[in-house]
Amino acid sequence: MKLIGAHVSAAGGVFNAPENAARIGANAFALFTKNQRQWAAKPLEQDVINAFKARCQQYGFSADAILPHDSYLINLGAPETDKLEKSRAAFIDEMQRCNQLGLTLLNFHPGSHLKKISEHDCLSLIAESINLAHQQVPDVVAVIENTAGQGSNLGWRFEHLAEIIAQVDDKSRVGVCIDTCHTFAAGYDLRTEAATEATFAEFDQVVGMNYLRGMHLNDSKGGLGSHLDRHHSLGEGEIGWDCFRYLMRDNRFDNIPLVLETINPDLWQQEIMTLRSFANVND
Ligand SMILES: [Zn+2]
Ligand SMILES: [Zn+2]
Repeated sequence: MKLIGAHVSAAGGVFNAPENAARIGANAFALFTKNQRQWAAKPLEQDVINAFKARCQQYGFSADAILPHDSYLINLGAPETDKLEKSRAAFIDEMQRCNQLGLTLLNFHPGSHLKKISEHDCLSLIAESINLAHQQVPDVVAVIENTAGQGSNLGWRFEHLAEIIAQVDDKSRVGVCIDTCHTFAAGYDLRTEAATEATFAEFDQVVGMNYLRGMHLNDSKGGLGSHLDRHHSLGEGEIGWDCFRYLMRDNRFDNIPLVLETINPDLWQQEIMTLRSFANVND
């Protein structure tokens, strides 16, 4: 089954996210479990946790269909010790919040070397950060998102993802989220079904499809290899519809959250319906 949704608002409390997802016809969703632009957050209260779990059950969202995203401030490969420690503590807190909410995935951007350490050292720091989080929090899978490679952000080459995973001790609790906009901006073509097939063949060879735990479905304002992280509505950017049609018709993308982060929330319901129409065609 295709689990399709969007990164919905959790304004007013995380328990509002499942309702916001259900309203647009989603059977998956992403959310922030705290303000994504702040370091600190007050702990989740038990009544908030209970309300979130009750709403997820009410609307039929299982943990497999929910892909929480961590704060943008966290850099798990930060070259400076103080920033690294702050990031690791915040990441562990994010993972604990997921665990409290009954969630089993946590999507994050791998990190940046800020031109102060080598790519290799940065990737090792990221892997060590994941290992430390695994030691502190049970059950939650660290889901590394590929990036567009803007600035000194790592994770844009599939080899970066593989190098991180190779150094994670518990391979059952590490995975990857492929963002189509970031993939395309990083230089992997997705403009035709053949190009999409070739890109995922390369992903399978370098990382392994078994590590794919979620996807972000976004078109791209930037061109192939532009390294610009600029999302667009489906079909309106440089990628076009063929990629998304391909993903919907391939069962390797079943049963993982497929999350829209497209720029116009008013279109989400229509985008989900269009994606579902691709999935339902049997030709
Ligand atoms: Zn992201
Ligand atoms: Zn994304």
